Amino acid sequence: MLDVIRSDIRQLTAYQVPDARGLIKLDAMENPYSLPAALRAGWLAALEHTELNRYPDPQARTLCEVLRQTMAIPEHCGLLLGNGSDELIQILALAVTGANQRLLAFEPGFVMYRLIAQLTGLEYIGVTLTADAFALDLDRALEAITRQHPALTFIAYPNNPTGNLFDPQGIEKIIEAAAPGLVVFDEAYAPFANASFMPYLETAPNLLILRTVSKMGLAGLRLGYLVGAAECIDELNKVRLPYNINVLTQHSATFALRHQAIFNQQTEQICSERQRLIAAFNAIAHIHCYPSAANFLLLRLSNAPAVFDHLKQQGILVKNLHGSHPLLNNCLRITVGTPEDNTALINVLFQC
Ligand SMILES: *Cc1c(COP(=O)(O)O)cnc(C)c1O
Repeated sequence: MLDVIRSDIRQLTAYQVPDARGLIKLDAMENPYSLPAALRAGWLAALEHTELNRYPDPQARTLCEVLRQTMAIPEHCGLLLGNGSDELIQILALAVTGANQRLLAFEPGFVMYRLIAQLTGLEYIGVTLTADAFALDLDRALEAITRQHPALTFIAYPNNPTGNLFDPQGIEKIIEAAAPGLVVFDEAYAPFANASFMPYLETAPNLLILRTVSKMGLAGLRLGYLVGAAECIDELNKVRLPYNINVLTQHSATFALRHQAIFNQQTEQICSERQRLIAAFNAIAHIHCYPSAANFLLLRLSNAPAVFDHLKQQGILVKNLHGSHPLLNNCLRITVGTPEDNTALINVLFQC
C-alpha cells in the first residue's frame, strides 16, 4: 500500500524534534519566560466564554485588528494569518507551484524553505552566503535571480541559524531584479533586531513581510502573519484552509498582544543576556562567537559534536549544526535563556 505514497516522500525522514524532557532547553529559539502569574487570571477569563462548539471566526477579525495596532502594519496592506509562519511559507509555495517554478533561498539558512519547496514540487535553489561572515553576496544573488527567475525568494532577516542581519544596502536591487517574482522577508526575529523591511512595502509591490509570534514568547499558539499588497494577499488567501487559526489561539493571542509591554520587557531582558553571553564566550579561547541580532548565538568550536554531547550530559540541550551545511562545521546554535540557564551554560563551556 505504501506504493501509492510519492517516492520522494518515502525517501525523506520526518522533521526531527529531540526529546527535551528534564533538560534546560536552549535549542529552539523559544522565549524562556512564560506568561507572568499576574496575567494568567486575565488570560483564563478571556478564554472562559470561548464557544468550543462553534467554528472560529474564519477571518480572525479581532486578532487582525490587534495585530495591525501593535505591529505597525501599514493601513493599506493586506494581512494573512497562518498556523505558524511555516504554514504561510507552505501557502506561498502552493500558490506559485507549477512546471519550472523555483524557490530561491540563502544558505546556510532556514531549513523549511527547502523542505516545503520539495513537498510542493518547486525547484529549490540555494545561494551560498559568504564563508567568513555569512553575508549576502549581492553579485551572486543578482546573478542567480536574473538567471533563474524564482517565483519566490526568501530572505531571513535576521538569518537563522547564523543570527546576522544582512547589509540592507543593495537589497532593494534584489527585490527589483526578482520582480514579478515575490520576495519574502522572513522577520521571525524582528523583536530582537530593531530592523525591518516593513517600510519598503510602500514602494515594492512584489515584497512581502513574514512574521511570527513564536520567538517573542508565544510559540505554543502557532501564529504567523504575512503582510503585503492587498491584491496579492487576496490571492494567497484563496489557498488558506478555512478556520486555520483555532479559537484558543485567536483569543489567547488577542489577549497577549493587548499586554504587549510584558513581551517587550522580556525581549529587552533577552537582548541584555545576549550581550552577557557574547562577552562570556569571547573570554573562552576555543570558542568563536558570531555577531547576532536574534535571540540565539552561533558558536564555532574545535569539536562541536563532543561539546554538544557534553552539554547534554550536563542537562543542557542546544542545536548541533555540525554536518548540516559545509559552512557550519563545528558550529552550535544556542538560544538565549534565563540568566540562570545562561550561567549554567557558561559554567559548563568554561570547563570544556
Ligand atoms: C522559527 C522560524 C520560523 C517559524 O516560525 P513559526 O511561526 O513558529 O512557524 C520561520 N522562519 C524562521 C527564519 C524561523 O527561524
